[in-house]
Amino acid sequence: MKTADITIVGAGIIGLATAYALTNRFPACSLAILEKEDNVARHQTGNNSGVLHAGLYYKPGSLRATLCGVGKRRMQEFCEEHHIVYELCGKVIVAYTDDELPRLRTILERGIANGVPGVRWINQAELREIEPYAAGIAAVHSPQTGIVDYKAVCVRLRQLLEARGVQFGFLERVDKVERGSGGLAIHTPAATHVSKHVITCGGLYADRLARLMGAAQDVQIVPFRGEYYFLKPERQHLVRGLIYPVPDPSFPFLGVHFTKTTHGKVEAGPNAVFALAREGYSWGKVNVGDLAEALGFVGFQKLAGKFWRTGLMEIRRSLSKDLFVQALQRLVPELRSADVERGGAGVRAQSIASTGTLVDDFSFIEMQDALHVINAPSPAATASLAIGDHIVDRASALFSLR
Ligand SMILES: Cc1cc2nc3c(=O)[nH]c(=O)nc-3n(C[C@H](O)[C@H](O)[C@H](O)COP(=O)(O)OP(=O)(O)OC[C@H]3O[C@@H](n4cnc5c(N)ncnc54)[C@H](O)[C@@H]3O)c2cc1C
Repeated sequence: MKTADITIVGAGIIGLATAYALTNRFPACSLAILEKEDNVARHQTGNNSGVLHAGLYYKPGSLRATLCGVGKRRMQEFCEEHHIVYELCGKVIVAYTDDELPRLRTILERGIANGVPGVRWINQAELREIEPYAAGIAAVHSPQTGIVDYKAVCVRLRQLLEARGVQFGFLERVDKVERGSGGLAIHTPAATHVSKHVITCGGLYADRLARLMGAAQDVQIVPFRGEYYFLKPERQHLVRGLIYPVPDPSFPFLGVHFTKTTHGKVEAGPNAVFALAREGYSWGKVNVGDLAEALGFVGFQKLAGKFWRTGLMEIRRSLSKDLFVQALQRLVPELRSADVERGGAGVRAQSIASTGTLVDDFSFIEMQDALHVINAPSPAATASLAIGDHIVDRASALFSLR
């Protein structure tokens, strides 16, 4: 049995960033991290696009907007301090039709309101200079958007935290938490841990972890898989940085796009397909319990009622390489099916309310002895170090930390 003042559940980038912020601010506080996998960053964090978002899309004043801007600066400083490669390769969001222009204009206005450095409207000729193979009638250019390897960030955070005495428990899935006079008894198949407080950062299981501790909530996590293709090396010259479409305003995902990686590859994707399991990294991965839970959830039923056409199209695109490539050809017409090979996939934890609306902003549930991160979608990896500070601000008041 291990004891700690605070136990964090989940060693994705949010759990690690929270631990990092706690050890910075309260070095005397003893800390444990319990993770069901054998290492850090095994789920969303280790399977994402690796984009350092500049804060273009988010509603001004929201946590996503403010923490993205601060978090990106903090992430760059962290990478510089710890010699982790990142690159501000720039991004263009491209409109192909006149009816996309007002939406592109709104993205620009949001970017300006969010203080995104250097963001501006560019015409076709300017677009061609930045991305010679991109098609479009106009674009928004964000020169400070970048790329980084979030797995490498997490590996470094783990080393720093271990050096500061944080106890890691890998292969420890938290499945029960009991309240007693001695504090919280946190049960995993391997052991029982005792802690005064708990912070859950469980990603795809955020809602279940909160429920485990009796937190009342109106939301459920529904998994959406994002699949990637890679450009073959001889065709990578088609993309210099990041090329995105104008997103559908009523859908929470950005649309398939091109992303350069810090490992010298160019990824195409991710799409957004309803996954048949919370860890449904492929069509073959089905979890009947997860599936029944999602399909039986009134919020998902309402959402599916509204977006079934888009959902079906995403499924067709997932099953057909040609359809996937067709979506990409809107951005880069020279791309051919033979130019891409299947890559990996990540599963997004999308929080949906029982009203059928997607929870847009980062959100948390506070209890007397626990704080639950309930929604940490993109750009949470970019914003992670700022989210860690935000959580510690809340936890220090909630748990009277000194
Ligand atoms: C396809 C895709 C592309 C994305 N692209 C970007 C991007 O380019 N830029 C960006 O900023 N963001 C991006 N995101 C979003 C970003 O990756 C996530 O917001 C971020 O990684 C969330 O981190 P997390 O720690 O909350 O979740 P996770 O990384 O999923 O970590 C949660 C951890 O909790 C553990 N856990 C869960 N339940 C338990 C339990 N009961 N006991 C013990 N451990 C448990 C899990 O094993 C996991 O390790 C993307 C996400 C996806 C899926």
